[in-house]
Amino acid sequence: MKKFLSTIFICALSCLYLIPTGCVYNKTSSSDLLVDNQQIATPLNPETSRSDCDTLVITCIDYRFASANQNFINEILKLKDNYDHISIPGSIYNLVNPETRELLFSKFALSVKLHLINRVVIISHKDCGAYGGSATFGSEIAENETLCTDLRNARALLIEKYPTLEVNLFLESLVKEGDEVKVHFEKIP
Ligand SMILES: [Zn+2]
Repeated sequence: MKKFLSTIFICALSCLYLIPTGCVYNKTSSSDLLVDNQQIATPLNPETSRSDCDTLVITCIDYRFASANQNFINEILKLKDNYDHISIPGSIYNLVNPETRELLFSKFALSVKLHLINRVVIISHKDCGAYGGSATFGSEIAENETLCTDLRNARALLIEKYPTLEVNLFLESLVKEGDEVKVHFEKIP
């Protein structure tokens, strides 16, 4: 009986030790997170803290194009701090596909309604996973034709719904230049 009681006592002590340890750990963890959040917080530029923007940009989520897209949008199109951004796997694939069209249109409508956008920039890319990659098309020409057709169909669908919108289309691809792989943007008329 004595042995049993001492076992219970040791267990109770262990629990008392473990509970505060867990709490201390969580507290430290939360405060670390808070510090991290404070370190990455950026102040809002008063010139850009307005209620509308000019353009909505639609891109694929593909990480290979992410930084090139940011640079293209900010520096080439000069849209820094002046655009909404929908990033969705396949970009226009979702707009030309009737099954997902309404979902994208519903998000798109928010941008039109909340931020009064008057221009849409759609950036599609070759070797897109949503289409099954370049291999699905059989040839480079077939891939180019399909993506250009989808881009133009997406523009027609948007203009049908919002006739005053300006819609600009771009097709991007990875191009090997020496040892480097670069992202090329082509404007589609
Ligand atoms: Zn993609």
